[in-house]
Amino acid sequence: MKLPNKPNMTWDTIKRMEDMTWFTYAQIFDDLLIVAQKETNCFVWKTEKGLVVMDGIWPDKRAYDAIVNAIRDVGWDENEICKYVVTHGHVDHAGCGKWLVENHHATTYLSEIDTEFWEKNPTKPDRPETWKDFEIDEFVREGDTIDCGDKTIYVYDTPGHTPGCLSFVFAVEENGERHMAALFGGATPPWNNEEGKKQYKKSIEHLKEVTKEKKVDVALFNHTAFDQGLDRIAYSKNRLSYMPVLFAK
Ligand SMILES: [Zn+2]
Repeated sequence: MKLPNKPNMTWDTIKRMEDMTWFTYAQIFDDLLIVAQKETNCFVWKTEKGLVVMDGIWPDKRAYDAIVNAIRDVGWDENEICKYVVTHGHVDHAGCGKWLVENHHATTYLSEIDTEFWEKNPTKPDRPETWKDFEIDEFVREGDTIDCGDKTIYVYDTPGHTPGCLSFVFAVEENGERHMAALFGGATPPWNNEEGKKQYKKSIEHLKEVTKEKKVDVALFNHTAFDQGLDRIAYSKNRLSYMPVLFAK
């Protein structure tokens, strides 16, 4: 049987990325929530210090509302949002920072390289609403940790998709069982940049080493478009107690 070896990206995929009329979510671990629109997703992680939002979909109030509504629906409190951690400086991930900062005073994290990259190369320069409209409080890079009380985020440099793209490793739990999760920040190699493609490959090798060392058994991604994310969310929403977590091995 001949199966495609890469996702089919079309203009339709791009259009769907900007569609803010439809959202879904699922609680995939006791302490981890995934919120998605048609192609892009983010995570909310519950810690002793409060809720940590990882990536923020597009800078659209509807995306922010979807994140808050998902938090409420699972019985968490959006007033506990305390940190906003961004994998890279593209507009479809840095999205909701404005409201997370204004309404929740979230401390914001991104690499210094992507903060500069983002300022010089806004994804949609002709659309001011997609320009970064919040400040980064803490620059993070390989080797840094973000203290969340009972849990920690381990930060890794995985350049390629953007020059300062980050990936995160952190613990999640289900029914008292602890897992280690890795969120890979870079969805795709930079298509028109040979050097970037090489860097991207190296980053994947690096992350493979790191995840082995940290005994990672949960793979997370920030684009539902590329990991059958919407199907996995639908499964997770209807999952029964004897069914496995689709995000863990
Ligand atoms: Zn991106």
